[in-house]
Amino acid sequence: MRYVIIGAGTAGLEAARTIRKEDGSARISVISADTYIHSRCMLHKYIAGERDEVQLDFTEDNFWDKFDINWMKGVKVCAACPEEKVIVLETGEKVGYDRLLLANEADSFSPPVGELRKASNVFGLRNLSDAQAIVKEAGHAEQVLVIGSGLVGLDAAYGLLEKGKKITIVEMAPQILPVQLDDHAAEAYQKLFERAGVRFILGRKASEAVCGHDGKIHKVTLDNGEEIPCDLVIVAAGVRPSSAYLEGSGIACERGVTVDTHMQTNKPGVYAAGDITGLSGIWPNATEQGRVAGKNMCGIPEMYTDTFAAKNTINFFGLVTLCVGRIREEEGDQVQIKEDRRQYKRAILRQGKIEGILLQGDISNAGTWQYLIKNRIDISGIQKDIFGISYADFYQVDETGRYEWVV
Ligand SMILES: Cc1cc2nc3c(=O)[nH]c(=O)nc-3n(C[C@H](O)[C@H](O)[C@H](O)COP(=O)(O)OP(=O)(O)OC[C@H]3O[C@@H](n4cnc5c(N)ncnc54)[C@H](O)[C@@H]3O)c2cc1C
Repeated sequence: MRYVIIGAGTAGLEAARTIRKEDGSARISVISADTYIHSRCMLHKYIAGERDEVQLDFTEDNFWDKFDINWMKGVKVCAACPEEKVIVLETGEKVGYDRLLLANEADSFSPPVGELRKASNVFGLRNLSDAQAIVKEAGHAEQVLVIGSGLVGLDAAYGLLEKGKKITIVEMAPQILPVQLDDHAAEAYQKLFERAGVRFILGRKASEAVCGHDGKIHKVTLDNGEEIPCDLVIVAAGVRPSSAYLEGSGIACERGVTVDTHMQTNKPGVYAAGDITGLSGIWPNATEQGRVAGKNMCGIPEMYTDTFAAKNTINFFGLVTLCVGRIREEEGDQVQIKEDRRQYKRAILRQGKIEGILLQGDISNAGTWQYLIKNRIDISGIQKDIFGISYADFYQVDETGRYEWVV
């Protein structure tokens, strides 16, 4: 059986690993535009100069030989023809398959503001090549403007702080990390970044940017008319699944490539996993989707069930935060908060069930919270402080000595 995987990120490689475990005689090819295997989550360390290209690799030693996988690196796929069971490479070469996995990520989105998209000193941060371009440009830049204060924007700023740059971050929401955190937890990070020298402008949008004679943007104008001088601009305003090459293939796409619970697309033998599905934008989910897709590609039915809730772990300046589920409260919710010098914890409950948890400073018992949210466990019978809940509150030992769930 010929398995072809487009994308050498965590989704693609986890699928390849899984296929090899299930099918010893499989012929597996991974095709990637990347020439280095790298963790996107570690790109800030590359920008900061703390890791080189090789140290961003997240695979085990000898990965390709160990799993007997053919890696076609530095190669872009530009079309897929499911009816003929082939994909087309940029070179015009066609590659046939029996099972195909689309695991080729999302692209940075650059908002249509003035000449941002055509300037030579404006970058997204998605791939190693973006990080390399940022490092090169940063070599002769003093003032950096970051548009967007989500995880990617803060990662970029974090890396560039190490290089001693003067950084301004513009965010249209009234707080930083608006998708991931409530305003209180976000403020803790804002203070840490400010202490390190970063200036934040919240509740404002970039509205104009004009290239100079050198093809670079030297100032960006905000929607209140304020002009921010800059030598380097990083746009971290979100991502879009990179599914343009599938146009005309008949593979259904909405927010991303549409998949069923088995990670299969509408075309037989074609699967998708990771950021390209638009199901989630985080590493652990992409990995799990790759594993599930790999199983199904081998004919072993398994469902992807981890769609229950958003999950994020954030760590800047040693302050760690974990969020699972909803962070915004809605009418009818009950919110419980615990805070002291060491930690901030906030739970959103609805009809006795936890809908969302935010743990900052102390993320112990994270597994319990995840379990309670995923399985929609009713905890209204628990009398103690809910922040003291642990697995022990829900299990009892049955007569055979096994633990059983009792709520
Ligand atoms: C800066 C940054 C920081 C992040 N931090 C975190 C974090 O702290 N925690 C977290 O959980 N998640 C984080 N994420 C998100 C996480 O990295 C992604 O969810 C994860 O990498 C998705 O994996 P993937 O396999 O779907 O795609 P990717 O890892 O993006 O891999 C995609 C692969 O597809 C290849 N490719 C793309 N187009 C083509 C083509 N046309 N032909 C051939 N190959 C192609 C690429 O070369 C690459 O090999 C971060 C992302 C970024 C960008």
